[in-house]
Amino acid sequence: MASLAEERPAADLEAFRLEVRDWIEANFPKSLKGVDMSLSALEGPSEKTPDREAWRIAVGEKGWGTPTWPRQYGGGGLTGAEAKIIQQEFTRAGASNPIGGMGVMMFGPTLLEYGSEEQKMEHIPAICKAEVRWCQGYSEPNAGSDLANLQTFAEDCGDHYLVNGQKTWTSGGQWADKCFALVRTDKSDKHNGISFLLIDMTSPGVEVRPIKMISGVSPFCETFFTNVKVPKKNLVGVEGQGWTIGKRLLQHERTNIGSGARNMVSISALAKKQIGVDEQGRIADPELRARIARLEMDGMAFFQTAMRVQAEGGVSVASSILKTSGTKLAQERAELIIEIMGMQGLGWEGEGFSEKELEAVRGWLFGKATTIFGGSTEIQTNIVAKRILGMLDHQ
Ligand SMILES: Cc1cc2nc3c(=O)[nH]c(=O)nc-3n(C[C@H](O)[C@H](O)[C@H](O)COP(=O)(O)OP(=O)(O)OC[C@H]3O[C@@H](n4cnc5c(N)ncnc54)[C@H](O)[C@@H]3O)c2cc1C
Repeated sequence: MASLAEERPAADLEAFRLEVRDWIEANFPKSLKGVDMSLSALEGPSEKTPDREAWRIAVGEKGWGTPTWPRQYGGGGLTGAEAKIIQQEFTRAGASNPIGGMGVMMFGPTLLEYGSEEQKMEHIPAICKAEVRWCQGYSEPNAGSDLANLQTFAEDCGDHYLVNGQKTWTSGGQWADKCFALVRTDKSDKHNGISFLLIDMTSPGVEVRPIKMISGVSPFCETFFTNVKVPKKNLVGVEGQGWTIGKRLLQHERTNIGSGARNMVSISALAKKQIGVDEQGRIADPELRARIARLEMDGMAFFQTAMRVQAEGGVSVASSILKTSGTKLAQERAELIIEIMGMQGLGWEGEGFSEKELEAVRGWLFGKATTIFGGSTEIQTNIVAKRILGMLDHQ
């Protein structure tokens, strides 16, 4: 999200860099060097070792896991330039940001924009410290791309709502403490009858059934709400404003999914190792070299655009462009990596494959989902046509 903090002069930025470096040296447990601690929404909670906990608490208390969020809610209160320095210094030290998940990616920034002061004070500090895990209650059996068709109903019962209905594909629902959900508060108005409600997953009447995939893992769930009592204070914004707030959250989600393409292995290093090099030290296969060069150029152009869009005030309708092109790019890269790996790019599990090889194959397969969740590519293309190009439905 765009920061409201004042920019520092360049000399002060260099002093800040040294401060960050010293702090990492003093606080980052060496045992975690190179360990990916990013909280994936689709994975279970990672093991709580003393070093992991110490690092999470240290980064959380400093507010550096959410560096540009306001200080009064537990963020770092820093500028975009300072946040970039923190990221660069973490990378330099082989340190991963332990603060993440849906709270950071999408719910937190949305609550900062639309929540009441009480709601921000209640929820944002816990997100900045990764103390609470959030899940997303949007999709339903008959409301995916046509999300506004959602039927989960929240009946007004005075001081609380009584929620009944079913959500599906709830990523990490079985591990989540809370859920930000879109519910219907008015059956007579498709869009203006939707409200944005925060539901405690431990409330009586919430039932989570993990969906088992063919691979045996269950990263997402069906979530059933039966007469679940939700206090009125958990309504974000006003009744009927849920569609506007819900779409804003999706812009954060889409920007993050698109930009996620950033964390990728170096294809040229892999290709040099697998295919070999010519007398000039280049990848031996000229056709492969050209494909890699094109992908690298597309990647650089994409990241420059993503950074510019984010610097220009955070998320917007352009997040649909970032999601479409970022995910396509990541899929193309993953595809090429598997191709270069040859037979080693065919393993799902078992002996004969290294951990890195299995990781690449799983990453490639999981990458297929990125053009579906958060709104499919077809839906993003529709949004771009309507909202950016100004085309009507029939054009
Ligand atoms: C890995 C994964 C994790 C997910 N996690 C969550 C989660 O945590 N919470 C949550 O709420 N949801 C989650 N989802 C659900 C996701 O948001 C939906 O799958 C997605 O919005 C598509 O909806 P659908 O699956 O119902 O497909 P459908 O809407 O049935 O679409 C089927 C196909 O038709 C196309 N299509 C539909 N309408 C149009 C149209 N108007 N124009 C052109 N093409 C169209 C779609 O692009 C798609 O290819 C997750 C999905 C996946 C795959």
